[in-house]
Amino acid sequence: MSQTIVTPAEVERAIRNVPDFPKPGIQFKDITPVLADARLFNGCIDLLINSLKPGDVDAVVGIDARGFIFAAAAAVKLKAGFVPVRKKGKLPFQTHEQDYALEYGTATVAMHIDALKPGARVLLVDDLLATGGTAAAAVSLVEKLGAKILEVSFLIELGFLNGRDRLKGHKIQSLVTY
Ligand code: AMP
Repeated sequence: MSQTIVTPAEVERAIRNVPDFPKPGIQFKDITPVLADARLFNGCIDLLINSLKPGDVDAVVGIDARGFIFAAAAAVKLKAGFVPVRKKGKLPFQTHEQDYALEYGTATVAMHIDALKPGARVLLVDDLLATGGTAAAAVSLVEKLGAKILEVSFLIELGFLNGRDRLKGHKIQSLVTY
């Protein structure tokens, strides 16, 4: 696949802010306009993986659900496998599960017990870093299998929520920060 030069500023201009979705007070960052633009979609994947080349990682792990879109595209470009971290109850085979705190209550993510080999080199990808709870839970699942996270990449980071603090010790990259 050829390299498409896209700047983070162009990606930022295409992200649509939807106020009060899915509930009052949330500023939802809608990435569908980025996906719908062939140049921006292709280019933002290149930006997400800019410090890596084919052969550097064995698997790209994507987080349910929008993370899958970016992680799968990154996996193809990096000639790596794709592994989903899903919400509890969706994966068909045996899983490891990890709970994490939400604003109200808890949620659980899961990964197949054989999804990654011990020592596998992993790029973890999601669309957006908010409080970091989801990504930290995914990190725990990857590490439970003995795999090694080289980098955690997000299209968007809500910097004011300090999600990075939950991912200490890992290399974190985000393209657009609010
Ligand atoms: P958190 O666990 O708080 O870091 O939340 C991250 C997850 O929630 C990601 O998988 C995002 O897709 C989603 N998310 C949280 N806040 C937003 C937002 N303002 N706009 C879009 N998605 C969000």
